[in-house]
Amino acid sequence: MPELPEVETVLRALELRVKDAEISDIIIRWPKVIEGDPDVFARTLKGQHFRGFNRRGKYLLFTMDDCLLVSHLRMEGKYFIKTDADPFSRHEHLVFCLADGRQLRYHDTRKFGRMQILPKDTDLNSFHDLGPEPFAEAFSPAYIHAWRRGRKMPLKSLLLNQSFVAGVGNIYADEILFACGLRPGRSCARITGKDEENIVRETRRILSAAIASGGTTIRSYNSFGITGLFQLACQVHEQKTCRQCGSEIKVKWIGGRSSYYCPHCQK
Ligand SMILES: [Zn+2]
Repeated sequence: MPELPEVETVLRALELRVKDAEISDIIIRWPKVIEGDPDVFARTLKGQHFRGFNRRGKYLLFTMDDCLLVSHLRMEGKYFIKTDADPFSRHEHLVFCLADGRQLRYHDTRKFGRMQILPKDTDLNSFHDLGPEPFAEAFSPAYIHAWRRGRKMPLKSLLLNQSFVAGVGNIYADEILFACGLRPGRSCARITGKDEENIVRETRRILSAAIASGGTTIRSYNSFGITGLFQLACQVHEQKTCRQCGSEIKVKWIGGRSSYYCPHCQK
């Protein structure tokens, strides 16, 4: 599943390719990809231009002339640029025909991704109950301290909770906790002020490094054929031995997700 760095990579790739492009028509091949009325969706977007490119958590946000277009890739959503001469793949569910003759096609083998139109003045702070962005000032040691008060969930579940912080998923949660020397199963009630500072710092450092690498390519993330390289930098996620101490990496099932950690380096 694409996490924040992969969504950011897709966003930047889209900005390079379709900034200011006009949508001349929309071909809807599988209407359920759209939340709401597909006819309204198509009518609203016709004649609109892709003006702004933003992200909130794992949501892609396109500012159009008169509305916001929101796209969530979920498990397998991808975008490709093609032309009307290219045959359709059966996994291409929605096509933005551009006035310059190109087509921006949404491809999704699992069909979990969704698109939605929202008013331009939608409050994105409270969007889908998402917590602060990891790079925002609001994500601070004091914020973590206040949030975990009275809670006992494992640190891994805390980081995966999108209401706590937006955009962190399974791969990066494992890497952040390794960098902080904290086991994923440790209760969030049992960390120190120093740990809170480390979590903020390492979350930003690891996500920045991942964005710089174009994200992580595990299985099928590759919009535009981009291959992210962060998997080469992973210290614990899907690793066999710890690069720092040589111990065998352990896998534990926490909150329905596999969690990788080093029993020696993480306490
Ligand atoms: Zn180790």
